[in-house]
Amino acid sequence: MTVQEAENYISQVLPALGVNKRRELVRLVYEIAKRDGVAATEILPVSKNLNFESAKKQLLAKRYPVNFKTAPKDRFYLPKLEIDPAQQADLTPRPFYPKTVYVETSVADSELAARAREMFPQARFLETDGKTQVGSPHFSHRLDTLLIHREKYDFLKPCPCSCSAACCGYNLINLGFGCRFECEYCFLQQYQNLHAILLPANLDEFLSKIDGASFRKGPFDRPRIGSGEFTDSLVFDDLTRYSQKIVPFFRKRPHLQFEFKTKSVNIGGLLEAGGCENVVVSWSVNSSRITDGAEHFTPGLSRRLAAACETAKAGYRLGFHFDPVVIYDGWREDYARTVQEMADTLPHEQVAWISVGTLRFSRELKKAIENRFPQNTILDGEFLLDFDGKMRYCDAQRTEVYGFLLPLLRRTFPRAHVYLCMEDPQIVRAF
Ligand code: SF4
Repeated sequence: MTVQEAENYISQVLPALGVNKRRELVRLVYEIAKRDGVAATEILPVSKNLNFESAKKQLLAKRYPVNFKTAPKDRFYLPKLEIDPAQQADLTPRPFYPKTVYVETSVADSELAARAREMFPQARFLETDGKTQVGSPHFSHRLDTLLIHREKYDFLKPCPCSCSAACCGYNLINLGFGCRFECEYCFLQQYQNLHAILLPANLDEFLSKIDGASFRKGPFDRPRIGSGEFTDSLVFDDLTRYSQKIVPFFRKRPHLQFEFKTKSVNIGGLLEAGGCENVVVSWSVNSSRITDGAEHFTPGLSRRLAAACETAKAGYRLGFHFDPVVIYDGWREDYARTVQEMADTLPHEQVAWISVGTLRFSRELKKAIENRFPQNTILDGEFLLDFDGKMRYCDAQRTEVYGFLLPLLRRTFPRAHVYLCMEDPQIVRAF
């Protein structure tokens, strides 16, 4: 069903509605029709006594069968439905080959700029003073532009986590902004306002800040520092070769541990750098329905696990992030299959940690997902406005997921630290 069809139907059955009431009903009809693949006439049959209140009640009960009776009404988020086909993601497979590479003058002679020239000889190279606005007007065209720059301010910071969520003491260095994958739930599609790939050429400066810094360690034996907040830690590593410097740096600092977080299998640099006990290479894992259907251009689960085995053989420890877990019919069986595949494949004693987090997103991100992936199924679940202003499954559904996955993971990988990510402290205490 299109937005227009939903609007036409509501105008036909309830012609005298004001703008806000119409907006809510249109969204509900659209979301139910999309989820169930049924016509509007089946969702909201015409009847003599139909008015706004009775229509909204019927539609909320259908859209939120788990929460309709229990959730306060202000937790259902029903914004205007605005879908612009021009914003749809381009899912045509293509290699990463930027059309234009901007290099800031101060790093024109850097190793990274030289490697970019070697890897992308057909690209147009332009020098910039760092003040010129670069990038495309559309997020979907961000891969057309690469900006190699010198980071001046944002070197090290505690993970911002989510306001009021239980903190795991993570620390971040932001080695890049932008990603070549297209995960339907990725927050960058709403957050990244410079539509290009940004890579800093001054990694040494980032590393130089580490020795003088103080770090939180949360519930872990040593502070953890990671690089995958605004990009995938390894997706561009064949170009950046950051791993070649990061691994030797941390090898000399065993009181810290560094985490590469990835969905890629771009592990050549890590293998060359040689293993390191306090470097953990982590893969985001999921049910194959999500890896294959919602994480576009990423390697599937088996390839990720094969790459994990290779890095473990080289001497790295491993981490895994079940994040985001998505609830749908059959989720338990699918996630159990993923855990089983991990159990059958991985060297258990090298798995350092496994986190679990259910799908959550800001209100703005919901709109971005609807626009970029109108056929998505990840939004079909019941998301409510939550304690931190984000949208989440209700406590009972999240608790059901954690009650299933955490014991299973702890039984399967008894030596790994299994924990919840960005969760309500009360729920964290229960597990
Ligand atoms: S791999 Fe991470 S950064 Fe890249 S698109 Fe997916 S969620 Fe976003």
